[in-house]
Amino acid sequence: MNHSQLPATLPETDRTRHRRLREQGSLDRGELEAILDAGFLCHFGVVIEGDPVVVPTVYGSDGENLYFHGSVASQSLTASPGATVCVTVTHVDGLVLARSVFEHGVNYRSAMIYGVPRLLTDAQEKLEGLRCLTEQAAPGQWDHARRPNLRELAATSLLAVSLREASVKIRTGAPEDGDGPDAALGIWAGVLPLVSTWGAPEADPLLPDGIEPPRHIAARSGTRAG
Ligand SMILES: Cc1cc2nc3c(=O)[nH]c(=O)nc-3n(C[C@H](O)[C@H](O)[C@H](O)COP(=O)(O)OP(=O)(O)OC[C@H]3O[C@@H](n4cnc5c(N)ncnc54)[C@H](O)[C@@H]3O)c2cc1C
Repeated sequence: MNHSQLPATLPETDRTRHRRLREQGSLDRGELEAILDAGFLCHFGVVIEGDPVVVPTVYGSDGENLYFHGSVASQSLTASPGATVCVTVTHVDGLVLARSVFEHGVNYRSAMIYGVPRLLTDAQEKLEGLRCLTEQAAPGQWDHARRPNLRELAATSLLAVSLREASVKIRTGAPEDGDGPDAALGIWAGVLPLVSTWGAPEADPLLPDGIEPPRHIAARSGTRAG
């Protein structure tokens, strides 16, 4: 868990105020951090020349900012400087199978973050952002793999989006038609949980014999992802 200097309660803005399914909303920044900490993949939404573009991409979170990286040629990251972006992070925890199709749903944890990205230009700041991204997906890997050199750093765009403006929604539990008229139908209802786990490491076929996966990779096998 991060120790953010940002307010513990998420501010309600015109963008983040929940209107539908309000009971699933949370203003707890700790819940936001838990959702971000549990993942490394997001959807980055931006309007480019009037058209919306939503790009799946990896992120890093330090509790204050989300970091994104890509090629300097990546238009989704840099084509709309000054534009507000909307980033979503979603974890699906199960299918909610109700008696009626109408009441079907999903158990989930999700966050939406709004902000104007800041393009990082300082080499040290870019390295810090890349470290955060790398460690988000594979903790321990920044100290294990070769770090970016100046040429690679110059070829990489790094963006930071503040976590100041964000919304959270979480659904847990059973279907909601167990105490309504459809309860008499005798149809099975409940939740089909969904859990993602990491598999066993698969060595690069070009790897010479005798190089074993490091502990920080091997130890994740069988553990929960998300
Ligand atoms: C995996 C998954 C599947 C879903 N499937 C459906 C579906 O099939 N049909 C359906 O109606 N809804 C679905 N939802 C819920 C959906 O994400 C919205 O919360 C819901 O549709 C209300 O949308 P709205 O635009 O009316 O929300 P509003 O309440 O009008 O949205 C107001 C603000 O609340 C915040 N907000 C809204 N939704 C979320 C969210 N999920 N996470 C974080 N912040 C949020 C945003 O900042 C948004 O601008 C699903 C959610 C997930 C995670």
